[in-house]
Amino acid sequence: MRKIANGIKRFQQKVFPHYRQEFEGLATSQSPEALLITCSDSRVVPELFTQSGPGDLFVYRNAGNIVPAYRAEEQNPQLKEAFMVILGLEQFEIAHARGSSHGQSRMTRMAYYEQEQYVPLLRSANELWRRLEQESGESLLHQVGGVFIGSPAGTLVNDSRLSAEKHGLPHEILSSAEVQKRWPMFVVPEGWQGMYDPGAGFLLPEKCITTHVDLARRKGAEIHEHEPVRGWRSEASHVVVKTDLAEYYAERLIFTAGAWTGKLLSDLGVRLQVTRQVLGWVSPPQPERFAKGRFPVWAIDGLSTGGIYYGFPILPGESGLKLAHHHAGTPYDPDAPSREAVRILAPSRRP
Ligand SMILES: Cc1cc2nc3c(=O)[nH]c(=O)nc-3n(C[C@H](O)[C@H](O)[C@H](O)COP(=O)(O)OP(=O)(O)OC[C@H]3O[C@@H](n4cnc5c(N)ncnc54)[C@H](O)[C@@H]3O)c2cc1C
Repeated sequence: MRKIANGIKRFQQKVFPHYRQEFEGLATSQSPEALLITCSDSRVVPELFTQSGPGDLFVYRNAGNIVPAYRAEEQNPQLKEAFMVILGLEQFEIAHARGSSHGQSRMTRMAYYEQEQYVPLLRSANELWRRLEQESGESLLHQVGGVFIGSPAGTLVNDSRLSAEKHGLPHEILSSAEVQKRWPMFVVPEGWQGMYDPGAGFLLPEKCITTHVDLARRKGAEIHEHEPVRGWRSEASHVVVKTDLAEYYAERLIFTAGAWTGKLLSDLGVRLQVTRQVLGWVSPPQPERFAKGRFPVWAIDGLSTGGIYYGFPILPGESGLKLAHHHAGTPYDPDAPSREAVRILAPSRRP
């Protein structure tokens, strides 16, 4: 008790005078940004471990065993935020051009030739994109429709069609002549077929990333740029993440390191072969024919070159028509990226 009484005396005589002005200001109003719910355990000193001062934090104590443990799958999305403190670490700047999520657009489809089981995930992804748009006021998902073109023996059209049928997705099957009539810029070999997926379209990846990050920050998450994760370890009750600036302790750790995942998880024996995927832009003679609203997203069987070729409409304010080749690619080190230009398009195969 004597220690506490002495502490109060010392505070009144030595500490209070330094804080007088701050306390006078706080006497009329306060607006802490956070409410910390914790227990009465004497070892928990919120102002010490959050490094906050008067007016920074509401603290609600004696709740240690009252607030249930956070379980994402059971929580109403609105409630989740109350129980999460999130830290995101990015080695470069937000929406940089050295990973997998840059280059203006990313195609989305509803019919999925790779695996029809993806369709429920795509439905739910689209719902989440729309929710993000509503919350942020940004326009991210553009369902402009997509046409997939392939040989009768190929998987692109046949398996897209199967997935559309299985999940009751709206779609149209088109002959090569019908594809060419609707979009005369395609030269489609006779006997080939097309499938139109009205739910296909594209996302604006850089804007998607900055929107996610802005919203997360607004809700209290901390996102650090230029802070690469150098190492991590799992202890009995928590994980530790090491960077050049600090060691962070957390209950859970989620890795979203893209092409660097193999390096970050090498201790777990995760071996990933990263390959280079290239995209490019061309200038067609009549760009207005390829404008968003007139031209869909598209994909065509690669035949002898393997993979598929695909592309996008020209976006408002842009001049180039984006084309890409989705294929196995050449092995590549994401820390020593090659920026050398390569041929994307196969030699012309006009019939
Ligand atoms: C050229 C190309 C075209 C594509 N086209 C399509 C398409 O049309 N449709 C489609 O659905 N998909 C497409 N994809 C695939 C899709 O874009 C990717 O699957 C997706 O963007 C991957 O996102 P990600 O967050 O996993 O990786 P990334 O966006 O690369 O993010 C990983 C992040 O982790 C960071 N990081 C890594 N290591 C560390 C570390 N140690 N410390 C801190 N930060 C670290 C990186 O800097 C990076 O920012 C395409 C991919 C490419 C490459």
